Amino acid sequence: MENNTREGSFHERGDWFGEQTGRRKLNELANMSYTGEKTLFRLTASFSSDSGEGDGDAAKSVDAKAVEEAEYASTGAEAEEAKASSAIVPTIPRPEDHLNVMVVPLPHRPLFPGFYMPDSKLLSALADNCKRSVTYAGAFLFKDEPGTDPSLVSGTETGKSIYEFKGQELFNRLHDIGTLAQISSIQGNEVYLLGHRRLRKTEMVCISRSLELPYNKDDDVIKATYFEVISTLRDVLKISSVWREYAKTYSRYIGEFTYGRLADFGAALSMANKLLCQQVLEELDVHRRLKLTLDLIKKEIEINKIQESIAKAIEEKISGEQRRYLLNEQLKAIKKELGLETDDKTALSAKFRERIESKKDRCPPHVLQVFEEELAKLQLLEASSSEFNVTRNYLDWLTALPWGDYSDENFDVHNAQKILDEDHYGLSDVKERILEFIAVGKLRGTSHGKIICLSGPPGVGKTSIGRSIARALNRKFYRFSVGGLADVAEIKGHRRTYIGAMPGKVVQCLKSVGTANPLILIDEIDKLGRGHAGDPASALLELLDPEQNMNFLDHYLDVPIDLSKVLFVCTANVIETIPTPLLDRMEVIAIAGYITDEKMHIARDYLEKATREACGIKPEQVEVTAAALHELIENYCREAGVRNLQKQIEKIYRKIALQLVRKAISIETSAAASIQPGKLEQYNEPSKEDLIEDVDGSLSFEKSDSDPSSENVDAAATAESKNIANPEQIGETWEEVEMAEVDLSPDQTTRVGEQINSKVDEVIDIGEKAGGDTEVDKVVIDVSNLVDFVGKPVFHADRIYDQTPIGVVMGLAWTALGGSTLYIETTLVEQGEAKGVLHITGQLGDVMKESAQIAHTVARAILLEKVPENPFFANSKLHLHVPAGATPKDGPSAGCTMITSLLSLAIKKQVRKDLAMTGEVTLTGRILPIGGVKEKTIAARRSEVKTIIFPAANRRDFDELSDNVKEGLDVHFVDDYSKIFELAFGSIDSSKS
Ligand code: ADP
Repeated sequence: MENNTREGSFHERGDWFGEQTGRRKLNELANMSYTGEKTLFRLTASFSSDSGEGDGDAAKSVDAKAVEEAEYASTGAEAEEAKASSAIVPTIPRPEDHLNVMVVPLPHRPLFPGFYMPDSKLLSALADNCKRSVTYAGAFLFKDEPGTDPSLVSGTETGKSIYEFKGQELFNRLHDIGTLAQISSIQGNEVYLLGHRRLRKTEMVCISRSLELPYNKDDDVIKATYFEVISTLRDVLKISSVWREYAKTYSRYIGEFTYGRLADFGAALSMANKLLCQQVLEELDVHRRLKLTLDLIKKEIEINKIQESIAKAIEEKISGEQRRYLLNEQLKAIKKELGLETDDKTALSAKFRERIESKKDRCPPHVLQVFEEELAKLQLLEASSSEFNVTRNYLDWLTALPWGDYSDENFDVHNAQKILDEDHYGLSDVKERILEFIAVGKLRGTSHGKIICLSGPPGVGKTSIGRSIARALNRKFYRFSVGGLADVAEIKGHRRTYIGAMPGKVVQCLKSVGTANPLILIDEIDKLGRGHAGDPASALLELLDPEQNMNFLDHYLDVPIDLSKVLFVCTANVIETIPTPLLDRMEVIAIAGYITDEKMHIARDYLEKATREACGIKPEQVEVTAAALHELIENYCREAGVRNLQKQIEKIYRKIALQLVRKAISIETSAAASIQPGKLEQYNEPSKEDLIEDVDGSLSFEKSDSDPSSENVDAAATAESKNIANPEQIGETWEEVEMAEVDLSPDQTTRVGEQINSKVDEVIDIGEKAGGDTEVDKVVIDVSNLVDFVGKPVFHADRIYDQTPIGVVMGLAWTALGGSTLYIETTLVEQGEAKGVLHITGQLGDVMKESAQIAHTVARAILLEKVPENPFFANSKLHLHVPAGATPKDGPSAGCTMITSLLSLAIKKQVRKDLAMTGEVTLTGRILPIGGVKEKTIAARRSEVKTIIFPAANRRDFDELSDNVKEGLDVHFVDDYSKIFELAFGSIDSSKS
């Protein structure tokens, strides 16, 4: 029961005057509180009543006998009035008319005069006496078990219910002072008690006396206390609307607040515990009662403040959350408006349908069917489910592909030729093949996809020609590299069931290019990895094979795609490592690399032009002499491709740009100086010579109209000095230039150049404003100053020997980086009877080692044939070495070179000057064909070889080479070693030593 005390009082407070709304709560309260069984309340007391108004009226005393049953019949009119005005306190009750009243034990709080209190148990008691219309009762607060703390809330109910107490026991547990309560109304299960005035319980016999001590209402202290109570109450009323309601009702029905009533009012509304309330009730001295009430309501204010701060905090929290929710909703709406929000199912479906609608007539029927199925599925799925996202992504891919969208092909052969020539020098076989392709397309009216494989060393233009072909054919270009690719899913896509599944590269390509007939360049096909799950080569085969790729099936998309119109171009450095089934389906075009002459053309007509434009330099500002370019190619960029050459040219042009900028600054500065002499007077320090030296550095400048052959610095300096209007007056920018020059390392030049560039623009502006007609300077790069631009040469000649000594012969080798020359050296270690053995070094592979052994045997046989009396090989311990020991070498093509080297040692004769050879040799001395004829020829030319010996079977390869490669070479084709012997050593007689 105790545990409900505070809560109970709170509810009661809200319901004493509130009618309908409060009833439910009171019912609950009643159910909680009164758990006891039906109790007889009619152990009754005699009572005494007070006038209660503090006016000092003598109390009317009524003696009454203790009776078993309270006998009382109220007069009809009053009872009616009481019932009718359920919530209204009747003006003047007349308890003196009633001799006996029932006792109502109150468990939670005392009943104060002027207040209502509901009670449901009373009803059952009344039921027995319904005919007697008992309308008054004495409401006494029930005392707790001695020793219990009324404020303590315990979870369990202990002791007996108050309704189990009877007779004297009950009488003892009641507080002395109670309230005369009128049974005001009965609503449902509840009876409403209305407090009238104080009662004191007596023994079984009632003693009546005044229960309010007389007091002086003009007493200042009492008055002050009264006003203090009023002002405190006002504060409470300000913050509590419930209290305001009570106060209104109370004043309407009770009338004026007398001192005593005010104290009662304050105590009744407070949430103080029952004992404190009872204390107020029992306090008959009005002043003291006021003081007690003051305490209670002060406390009430404090409680209210706490309550308010709690409410405020909660409200702030709620309003913050509400604000966020509101903003989120607004954000969603904005996103939707901008088309960023894709959650909306109908908008999504509309978007997909719109996309597919635009290509409906070109789209294959099976794709349309899958589209409809997936779209229907999307409608049924919950938008937040993962399945929804999977389907949405799928539809996104499916509808984004260019079903049946082809770019109009350009079948104009002349135009294509023009474009191809525009982009690349030479490469005639590649260009020819592309033109054939276009011609076939023109005749047929449609083109069919083909696979072209461009093989060759790096930097020969494989990738860039691919791009050029796409331009010539008016196809979209897409490039992807398969170097090191080990996952089949990269090509064929993941199955849709995997998280983060993606289509393969081909589908990605089609989506990104937006046409179904692009040119797809598959780079590095020779470096395809080997997957542990699935073989990427087989996946590529499916992709490339014209028989299969009409119905290429991507795992993710799961609908066949027609790739037959796609033109595939693959690139590789070596074709040997391309899987055979793939190689079978390709048309291989080898690009061997370029000879110096070709490189000169490429550099002049393509690389220089492109770089000049990229650096913003005008053609008349620069001249790279042919000799310088030749030097650059021969000594800096010997490799087969031109990528390094391109880099070197870029380096040169960057430096030229910097030089030009510096030059322009000095000229414009002096122009500016002549415009603003006043401002420049202070800058007259650096001399003319300083200026020229700093500007020129180690380079030679000359006027574009001057003779280009005059390159020396002095001449340029003179020309410079002429150009400066007033050399003594140096512009303010000069100092900045000098500063920029201070720690200018070659690597920093570009950056500094950029910084200076902007400065130059300003300066040029000034010049133009001044009407200055600036002459453009020209930078000439010749062999003499090439080192200033590109540093010292990285390559020294491949040739180690001008004339090869005895036992040394030049061979020709081929690598993925192009061809090169290499020497085979043989020396005699020691001689002795039957000491014939060959020792080999030079990081040779197994094939090459075997080929050395074969050479040893063949050389012995040939020596025996040519010079039978020479026992050299039988008695000599020999050492064969292939220089550049750090480079692994392998292959059979050095066979004939090794034999020649061994024989040279044996017959002690040098081989012919400027001779190089290549060819595999059998044990019988037959010469077998080798690969890389073009590369080897180019390498031989580079090393200034005049005579080359090739296997006879390679004649066809050599004949196919362009004239400029073959030009000036004495080439011999041999099928047997004896011919090489003749070519290398001349007549046998002269070879005898
Ligand atoms: P690869 O793919 O063979 O390694 P790239 O296609 O990347 O080489 O070519 C390297 C650079 O050389 C490109 O800038 C390209 O334009 C240039 N290049 C290569 N060959 C030629 C050529 N025959 N004519 C003009 N430029 C060329």
